[in-house]
Amino acid sequence: NQQVVLAVRPQGDLKPSDLRLEACAMPLPGERELLLETIYLSIDPYMRWWMRAEKSYNDPIEIGQVIVGATVSRVRQSRHPDWQVGDWVLAYSGWRRFAVSDASGLRRLDPNLAPPATALGVLGMPGFTAYAGLRNIGQPRPGETVVVAAASGAVGSMVGQIARLRGARAVGITTGAHKLSYVKQELHFDAVADYNAPDFVEQLKKSCPDGIDVYFENVGGKIWDAVLPLLNTHARVPVCGIIAHYQRPSAEHASIDRLPNTMAQIMGKSLTLRGFIQTEYADTQMDDFLNEAGQWLANGQLAYREHLTHGLQSAPQALVDLLQGRNFGKTLVKVAEP
Ligand code: NDP
Repeated sequence: NQQVVLAVRPQGDLKPSDLRLEACAMPLPGERELLLETIYLSIDPYMRWWMRAEKSYNDPIEIGQVIVGATVSRVRQSRHPDWQVGDWVLAYSGWRRFAVSDASGLRRLDPNLAPPATALGVLGMPGFTAYAGLRNIGQPRPGETVVVAAASGAVGSMVGQIARLRGARAVGITTGAHKLSYVKQELHFDAVADYNAPDFVEQLKKSCPDGIDVYFENVGGKIWDAVLPLLNTHARVPVCGIIAHYQRPSAEHASIDRLPNTMAQIMGKSLTLRGFIQTEYADTQMDDFLNEAGQWLANGQLAYREHLTHGLQSAPQALVDLLQGRNFGKTLVKVAEP
């Protein structure tokens, strides 16, 4: 068996050497337990956040602890009456090949309904995050303009597509020719803007001739600076993530104080900024999401893309790449053959 643990607390940008791949004992399932083998491991931005020493909405990952993470796994041994060898499950095994589960919190997956890996992306936590942030906070109405950054990614790609399915206009912010063209041509966003282009602010303005009604915040930083003046009166901002800030200690950002201007605009334009963690809505709205998004996917109304690496040893670099924007689509590690 193999696992990846936190070797040292990362300072600034995460390095692969902050994590360590190690051999570990093969776990044995007890009565009413299962042995799961990870087929796909989900790589997500929150993992970097939880490597900080400070407690946030979750306890930090400790030095020597296995990195947490959602997995699509298969049952290899079952001592539980409800589960058979070979069953596909959505689990939370973390960065390891084999894990024992008491079967609580597992979701059974039907490989005939959708490819199992979609349970970590378009039909999983990232897709649900987009769905819940729009349903509860963004609430786009037909004809309104919805803007999202990291638009080619797991959450952003769903934000724009769901916004369009609700009759709104979707504007995506990303960078690089391949991502820009994917967002426009394959996800069918109405417009795109390149945040690394010298005329980014102009591009965004042109893409939003009627201003912005919903800004789904994934990134923060200079993208927030460009969006803020374009927000309409009564615009809604689901604050989902600020990936541009996850790796930087806040002292480095102290030279730019965004707070006074942000507060002035919140007041002057009666803006609603509302942060959320998707788990807040999961108990009550996950079934709605799976029904609705499952239909959209089956009808060909949702496109998605996976960024796949191979072997547990590739996971540290995969997370480093995600945090530098070098992923293109939902980041997954294929840990074992099904
Ligand atoms: P993505 O698949 O979108 O991958 C991350 C993307 O972020 C990169 O591809 C890159 O896109 C962009 N990025 C990375 N670093 C920077 C940077 N320094 N500046 C600007 N952009 C950067 O990841 P997810 O879809 O999984 O996550 C998107 C956001 O949603 C994150 O902020 C994440 O924390 C948040 N999230 C929040 C949840 C919640 O419950 N609140 C749940 C799940 C995710 P590009 O090349 O386009 O810039």
